[in-house]
Amino acid sequence: MEIPKFLIERYKFWKTNTFEDYKDIYQQASKTPQKPIAMIITCCDSRIIENTIFGGSVGDYFIHRNIANIVPSKNDKDQNIQTLSAIEYALKVLKIPNLIILGHSNCGGVEHFYKTLSDKKNINNFEYINQWLSCLQNSYNNIPNDFSEIERITFFEQENIKQSIKNLREYDFINKLINENKLNVVGLWYQISSGLIKYLENNSFIDLD
Ligand SMILES: [Zn+2]
Repeated sequence: MEIPKFLIERYKFWKTNTFEDYKDIYQQASKTPQKPIAMIITCCDSRIIENTIFGGSVGDYFIHRNIANIVPSKNDKDQNIQTLSAIEYALKVLKIPNLIILGHSNCGGVEHFYKTLSDKKNINNFEYINQWLSCLQNSYNNIPNDFSEIERITFFEQENIKQSIKNLREYDFINKLINENKLNVVGLWYQISSGLIKYLENNSFIDLD
């Protein structure tokens, strides 16, 4: 095993600069239980830097990432254990009041599934990815036929956020918290090229700024 040089250099920079500047916050954070203001479920994509976008400090956000920011349906019993265990801890133990599904443009996971189903040319020998992305089937079925391909993929990315929020309601403990106004669920779609964020309201995505 070799520790990559960039890792060592960047760590040293962080330790002597950022950590030093925020040392009190880190020490305080170690003395009290975490109390995040929001859980964020987002994609593994390296271009989504949620702590930068939303100005996160130590302890602010409880993050779960998976390919294409999916909350699987309760019916997807082979798929949902990881995401749901993170949500269960966030809601039952940490009692986090906000749950944000943060999807994004140029999502490779969404595009892969789209191309696999639409042109049948993209069927790779993935051992796990295709099974995971099968959770996107319902969202795929809702894509309008008369859109251009770019519009179809953007629609698909946003439909996946809507579907994930619908899926949350299938779990009794989550549905109960929403109905009791103890949990605020937010759907966001982030455009990498422009920094634009759209939020879901009344089944449509609206610019946040
Ligand atoms: Zn993605």
